[in-house]
Amino acid sequence: MAGLELRQVKKSFGSVDVIHGVDLDIEDGEFTVFVGPSGCGKSTLLRLVAGLEATTSGTLSIGGQDVTDVEPADRGVAMVFQSYALYPHMTVEENMGFGLKMTGHPAAEIKERVSGASAILHLDPLLQRKPKALSGGQRQRVAIGRAIVRQPEVFLFDEPLSNLDAELRVQMRLEIAKLHKELGATMIYVTHDQVEAMTLADKIVVLRAGIIEQTGSPLTLYDDPDNSFVAGFIGSPR
Ligand code: ADP
Ligand code: MG
Repeated sequence: MAGLELRQVKKSFGSVDVIHGVDLDIEDGEFTVFVGPSGCGKSTLLRLVAGLEATTSGTLSIGGQDVTDVEPADRGVAMVFQSYALYPHMTVEENMGFGLKMTGHPAAEIKERVSGASAILHLDPLLQRKPKALSGGQRQRVAIGRAIVRQPEVFLFDEPLSNLDAELRVQMRLEIAKLHKELGATMIYVTHDQVEAMTLADKIVVLRAGIIEQTGSPLTLYDDPDNSFVAGFIGSPR
């Protein structure tokens, strides 16, 4: 079980408060999308869940375990970044297996997991290439593959498709939806693309300036926004 619970999570950088005390429950297997204007704290909130930033106060649990002070590698999460963050000197296969190698997994198991992820993402013909010989869409596929091989309970995506052209974005969006179905994993996805949010989400969290304005299904937010900010952001006609 890997639902998430955030309780009064706060984050400040120096004297600047960025996340103001967020309470949020995410169900096991749910696809949750964070939306909100640039600078509202979407990436920071995701990085807090990943453990890449420490909370200033509050608690965070994953699968019923308090992970507030747990190292990123031990939280059962894997993050996919907008910038792909692949190692340029490694092949696709090495990039995908690197995290497992670092955590001491046996070579045979790494090979098996990489080939499993590679099959899901149709990466087989690309395994021996270096990132510079890949298109943007292929690079993002590798970055997603690298997350899959870690078999996380929770996937975190930070605007993973923002660097891709419109056509590829649609294609990758469908692949991510399919992946969610196949793996049944809990996923948190940050985007500023309303279509991505509305089509992917079980639940949308609308953020403004480090505060949750509203949480609900796409339909609820569209039909019954709590305020004009949410309406404006989700695109409902009111
Ligand atoms: P979003 O992803 O919604 O665009 P971010 O989470 O990246 O927003 O940033 C939220 C706010 O926190 C911004 O004002 C940003 O400048 C600030 N911020 C983010 N990371 C840091 C950091 N490491 N140091 C100082 N300020 C930061
Ligand atoms: Mg961001």
